[in-house]
Amino acid sequence: MHASFENSLDFAKKMDQNDPLRNYRDLFHIPKHNNQDCIYFTGNSLGLQPKKTKEYILEELEDWAKYGVEGHFEAKRNWFGYHHFLTEKMATIVGAKPIEVVAMNTLSVNLNLLMVSFYRPQGKRTKIMMEAAAFPSDHYAMQQQVRFHGLNPQDEIILLEPSEGAHCIDSEAILNEIEKHKDSLALVMLGGVNYYTGQFFDLEKITKKAHEVGALAGYDLAHAAGNVVLNLHDWNVDFACWCSYKYLNSGPGGVSGVFIHEKYANSPELPRFAGWWGNDEKTRFLMQREFVPQEGAAGWQMSNAQILPMAAHLASIELFDQAGIQNLRAKSEKLTGFLEFLLQDISEIQIITPSNPLDRGCQLSLIAKKEAKPLFLFLKDKGVVADWREPDVIRVAPVPMYNTFEDVYRFVAIVKEFYSKAD
Ligand SMILES: *Cc1c(COP(=O)(O)O)cnc(C)c1O
Repeated sequence: MHASFENSLDFAKKMDQNDPLRNYRDLFHIPKHNNQDCIYFTGNSLGLQPKKTKEYILEELEDWAKYGVEGHFEAKRNWFGYHHFLTEKMATIVGAKPIEVVAMNTLSVNLNLLMVSFYRPQGKRTKIMMEAAAFPSDHYAMQQQVRFHGLNPQDEIILLEPSEGAHCIDSEAILNEIEKHKDSLALVMLGGVNYYTGQFFDLEKITKKAHEVGALAGYDLAHAAGNVVLNLHDWNVDFACWCSYKYLNSGPGGVSGVFIHEKYANSPELPRFAGWWGNDEKTRFLMQREFVPQEGAAGWQMSNAQILPMAAHLASIELFDQAGIQNLRAKSEKLTGFLEFLLQDISEIQIITPSNPLDRGCQLSLIAKKEAKPLFLFLKDKGVVADWREPDVIRVAPVPMYNTFEDVYRFVAIVKEFYSKAD
């Protein structure tokens, strides 16, 4: 594929003209710097706002003003069953059946709730396997879940490390580790795409291997949902959760998504933390004492739906539905491939993200071998919104929904300008 890229602004513009998704950018608010569009490469951290989000939220405010409590049933989209408006589109994004997904709470909360049901240490089978360089929230959650069962995190958490000198974790090494701990492993819990390196793990193979040894597999898809093509149902993943404010453009603090495989759809015996919103809708408002969980992931809901963030989520996932996750991914591979191609000319930059498109999403994590922090500040000054992670990594994520090939070209030109000045 790289052989077909050219290092020129004309080429970038031509790619944009030929991009079937080029009009989606106009549906978003692009932040400005000195009256020019920023080069916004942090959709992996907080996705941009779709222009129609405001309208969707205003509709709910208007229905609230108009109906008060009656909005639960009278609102244009009734609040009583609001999650139903989201499930099908969410399911499409992560490759699930509608019964397997629900929007509720926020990500770290859901990760903890899912652990209640799916981390059930018993006998010798007590250990959790995760990335040594997982997102901090995931470490905290796993450690406390282990303690919640009266066990010691030091003994129970197996940390996956890259081999000496590497940044990413070898796929085979993960499978070998699972095999090595086959009698004591209760759960494999990885970030589907690692937030730091951008590595996309082979979730299908890892899940299969976990099941083969008698363990479960669950994933934090914060950096995967809306970024890569997932087939959670077919891969037989036990559970997953993700946030909606990164690639899914649903706003700060947005509602989280949860996946629970269909095989658990009718398992009232699975322990879970519960609240009235997870109860059967037919009897939810009868205020009875006995909990009758809804079928599927919806039975894990606790509180009444967060209508305003969910309205923002709906506005955004409609765009995913229209654009198609496969089409977005096809553009994404080209966009990130182009970025990689252009960066290869700059000797000061090392890319730590895997170069095989199958092993990554749109993000590239860059180590600036010289003057990393000054480079980052220079980028900022030139209107590039990128992300700095200590000690020396700059993460850039050209997202296919609204970034352009021209953004990519201009970004690399600014990096070049910095190093030609520095010399
Ligand atoms: C962004 C992110 C989170 C954040 O969790 P919140 O509860 O939404 O604040 C957690 N885990 C991972 C892997 C993330 O990338």
